[in-house]
Amino acid sequence: MLDLQKNLIAGDWSEGTATIENRNPSDLSDLIGVYAQADASQLASTLLRAKQAQLEWAAYGIERKQAVLMAIGTEMMDRSLELGTLLSREEGKPIAEGKGEVYRAGQFFTYYAAECLRQIGENADSVRDGIEIDVRREPLGIVAVISPWNFPTATASWKIAPALCYGNAVVWKPANITPASAVALTEIIARQDIPKGLFSLVMGAGSSIGQQLIESTEIAAISFTGSVPVGKQIAMAAIQNLTKVQMEMGSKNALVVMDDADLDTAVTVAAGGAFGGSGQKCTASSRLIVHESLHEAFTEKLIATTKAMKVGHAQHEGTQMGPVVSAQQLKENLAYVDLGRSEGAELVCGGAQLDMPHEGYYMSPGVFINTNNDMRINREEMFAPLASIIKVASYDEALAVVNDTNFGLTSGIVTKSLARATHFRRHARTGVVTVNLPTAGTDYHVPFGGRGDSSYGPREQGSSAVEFYTTVKTAYISAGQP
Ligand code: NDP
Repeated sequence: MLDLQKNLIAGDWSEGTATIENRNPSDLSDLIGVYAQADASQLASTLLRAKQAQLEWAAYGIERKQAVLMAIGTEMMDRSLELGTLLSREEGKPIAEGKGEVYRAGQFFTYYAAECLRQIGENADSVRDGIEIDVRREPLGIVAVISPWNFPTATASWKIAPALCYGNAVVWKPANITPASAVALTEIIARQDIPKGLFSLVMGAGSSIGQQLIESTEIAAISFTGSVPVGKQIAMAAIQNLTKVQMEMGSKNALVVMDDADLDTAVTVAAGGAFGGSGQKCTASSRLIVHESLHEAFTEKLIATTKAMKVGHAQHEGTQMGPVVSAQQLKENLAYVDLGRSEGAELVCGGAQLDMPHEGYYMSPGVFINTNNDMRINREEMFAPLASIIKVASYDEALAVVNDTNFGLTSGIVTKSLARATHFRRHARTGVVTVNLPTAGTDYHVPFGGRGDSSYGPREQGSSAVEFYTTVKTAYISAGQP
């Protein structure tokens, strides 16, 4: 019998009135744990305590805060294999990707540990004689963090670390499908030298506890990553209370392969960008826009690479792509395969459910050809290991197709031409641009976010995070005569 995994409510590990089971998508017979679901009264009590805890935390010295964040980050990096394996078990990405994610998540904490010490503001002379102006940043109060399942540890960390760094309390509602990673990170944070109740974990369904959290008048800000429809719902709730909001949502990222591209680089970059994490990345390269002169050679090589990918149990050695996260996601992915065919696209490999020795949500990575940018498979985020090739006749056409989307998170180009790469960097309407690299895979010390339906509000990560997690105070000081 597995122990019940609890929520962290007002600083205490607490049971709820309901529970859910967490099963391994690589093998449904593997029960990872049973998790408590937070309820409305627990949310109320944790918010009440968080209010006081935030004031205590904001009054900590900067070295004391820095030490807390450093300890969290260091422990995560030290335990990245153990915690990455747990993540792999509940999310389905191969262990190497899980380990990499936890290590990277630790780096968010160590980066913001250093930022705790960088409390340098601005000052100016007033337009009035004898008056000085001091501009400084202050915490917001309680921040609600709503995170998704596809990067359950990294996404949450790139929100939690800056929120704490800049003196806020945090109430975290993780995706209910990946609660084990949430409990593991919360255990690390709860052990630190922080005021009781500064950090809360409220596991439960987005539609119940999530909705109650975002509607609360006690929270000052919401940082969300997930789907566009839920993002819009969150924005509507936030506006009712004039709550500050930051959202990172879906995308339909394009990778351009130009006529002068190195073929091996192009295929490696395309396959990695399209199928890493089973395609369940907001930065996935799902539209491959290929110049006609390289189309045949590229398609042939991509098919061979895709067919050679080893799909299997995410905790088994040699697996390159694990299962998708859930039965629902698998069903939607297979529906997109049917939709693509019905739209006239040709599926040249994969895209099928796979039988394995263990029951799980397996499908083969798939490639569509003969697609155009008006098809729904090229306009909607599929979040699947599926890529579409769109043939183009020129660089100008390629750029036009890249920008013909409601989204705008990442885009990339594979080319040997500096002139084209430079033009692309300047004219692709996305928040992130890559050259000869996959559209997925970003650093922690620089801004991250997109345009259009992909993002809303200030950028995340790096020094940009300060914009969201703080408010500015302008002080006028008249010193008088010496
Ligand atoms: P959702 O947008 O439903 O979930 C994201 C987070 O929001 C989860 O923690 C979820 O909780 C929570 N949530 C859901 N409804 C509410 C609400 N009313 N109020 C507050 N919080 C809420 O994404 P899904 O997990 O359902 O995935 C669906 C699709 O979304 C994917 O196929 C993909 O296209 C896209 N997506 C994009 C991501 C990205 O990185 N941009 C990440 C994840 C998904 P819970 O899961 O417990 O319901």
